[in-house]
Amino acid sequence: MDIEATRKELGRDTAGAHVLQPGVVDLSHGVILYVENLTVSFDGFKALNGLNLYLNTGELRCLIGPNGAGKTTLMDVITGKTRPDSGTVFFGNTLDLTQMAEYEIAQAGIGRKFQRPTVFQGHSVFENLELAMRAKKGIWQSLVSRLTGEQRDRIEATLDTIGLSQQVHTRAGMLSHGQKQWLELGMLLIQEPQLLLVDEPVAGMTPHETERTAELLTSLAGKHTVVVVEHDMEFVHRLARRVTVLHEGRVLAEGTMEAIQSNPQVIEVYLGV
Ligand code: ADP
Ligand code: MG
Repeated sequence: MDIEATRKELGRDTAGAHVLQPGVVDLSHGVILYVENLTVSFDGFKALNGLNLYLNTGELRCLIGPNGAGKTTLMDVITGKTRPDSGTVFFGNTLDLTQMAEYEIAQAGIGRKFQRPTVFQGHSVFENLELAMRAKKGIWQSLVSRLTGEQRDRIEATLDTIGLSQQVHTRAGMLSHGQKQWLELGMLLIQEPQLLLVDEPVAGMTPHETERTAELLTSLAGKHTVVVVEHDMEFVHRLARRVTVLHEGRVLAEGTMEAIQSNPQVIEVYLGV
């Protein structure tokens, strides 16, 4: 891929740069994430090897690939947990994530959902969302202060999005595995991330929960940009969005699910096994 040409096409040429508030994500070119020439090595082994990836604002992207392809490492670099050997990761046109601390990246609007749900088991669904909302941007609002009407509305809206309106007073520890995953998604959503990274969301879910999760993630597109790492191909198919296949630390193929499934290289390294 010709990086310079792509960069120009996507509008990252500095000639068109304009003044922005510091720390504000510049989405004026419609691209929320630019990953270019990204290389990460562990003891000489290249987990990412010259990776290039672009995400459009508001899209739902599926990331697939065999074990060890570098999917988790990519998420680690985006969130600042791992520093690359070389390459750049820009959030919008101006924020270089490789130069930012993990908490700064979270505050800038990138949320990450890990596989294991980490909800407060002893608290109700409502309280979990309330705690997450009060913790927004790392600035803990006093727990004794009353919620404003706007804040209550936001919790209600989030309950609706994650389908837990009926469980509002249920203790999180009593929820099913799938419901806990949705609650944790809600706890991220209430912090209003612009980019949401979700690692294997349907692992361990029942077929019905899996179906519901596909609907939930689909409903987020547009409002948020979402990257979903998942092995369940039926689930990826259900999301029916643009799919990127990683292999040996770089992009092997990118396109619709149909194009990916009929790509001989993809079949050989991933789907065929
Ligand atoms: P995926 O999520 O696609 O399965 P990973 O990003 O977890 O792949 O891993 C990519 C490669 O990098 C694997 O070979 C893995 O063993 C290696 N790796 C990942 N993290 C580390 C680490 N902290 N130290 C050493 N090797 C690592
Ligand atoms: Mg992984």
